[in-house]
Amino acid sequence: MVYKMETQKQFPQTFSFEFFPPRTAEGVSKLKAVRKKLSLLQPKYFSVTFGAGGSTQQGTLDTVVDIQKAGFAAAPHISCIGTSKQTITELLKTYKDNGIKHLVALRGDIPSGAGNLSDGDFTYANELVTFIREQHNDDFYIEVAAYPEFHPQSLNAKVDLDNFKRKVDAGADSALTQYFFNPDAYFRFIDDCEKRNINIPIVPGIMPITNYTQLARFSDMCGAEIPRWIRKRLENFADDKESLKAFGEDVITELCHKLLEAGSPGLHFYTLNQADTSTAIWNNLGL
Ligand code: FAD
Repeated sequence: MVYKMETQKQFPQTFSFEFFPPRTAEGVSKLKAVRKKLSLLQPKYFSVTFGAGGSTQQGTLDTVVDIQKAGFAAAPHISCIGTSKQTITELLKTYKDNGIKHLVALRGDIPSGAGNLSDGDFTYANELVTFIREQHNDDFYIEVAAYPEFHPQSLNAKVDLDNFKRKVDAGADSALTQYFFNPDAYFRFIDDCEKRNINIPIVPGIMPITNYTQLARFSDMCGAEIPRWIRKRLENFADDKESLKAFGEDVITELCHKLLEAGSPGLHFYTLNQADTSTAIWNNLGL
């Protein structure tokens, strides 16, 4: 099958990096150094994750404020599960007061051990997008999550696509995908979106491969498939970190190359607060 990617090709390509908020003073200074290195590549923005149900929320604010002060655009993630409308209202005001114009709006996952968070005012991310638009019209550029291999809790692929469309119809400006290693998953997802008249940029999320155990754990949690040919090789490298890194860089560079060549509207790197691998891939691609 030849994927046309017609809607996606019409959008400008944007490149961005994602951080998580550091928990220690050492982590904060390490992240500043990472951000300085990645700033040299001139991404469109840096996004910063947000812990559902309260964890890391101050860290997200501190990190985005720090990024903005350094002269770069920052996009905080906001998750709504287990959260009241009042809390979201206050958070949006704080972000607006701090000059933030770009948000990544999510449902979030209830952290294990956090108890029952179903008491909040939101159940799904489309409700958060609607709420932000109701409160702030177009003050914020709103990004949402998309799942080319489908969300692990979705009933089936069709329902998941319907639910993605709800977020777009609620006012999302663009989407960032969960990471994947098979470009056909993305191309087919785009094809399905085009058939549903979903006409926003859907930027592939890119997970650099640096640590097999961590990658396998994340992938199990978020429903991203590690193809057998990659998994088997990563298992073989065991403690040979250099070979794993070289293989990972090669595989991800090739993936990014295929995506960009086919017309994906940029790339969003899950940096895991590391600069080197994302930089190497970026340079390999000649961005
Ligand atoms: P939703 O879009 O609400 O979807 C969640 C599930 O519910 C899906 O199965 C969907 O099919 C279903 N659904 C959606 N709407 C409806 C509806 N109206 N009726 C019935 N079913 C529905 N998590 C964090 O906690 N913090 C972060 O910072 C963070 N950043 C992320 C960044 C990206 C780019 C991505 C891809 C994910 C991120 N996540 C983050 C993880 C995300 O919160 C989880 O994947 C979460 O389980 C789903 O969030 P969502 O916004 O996609 O949810």
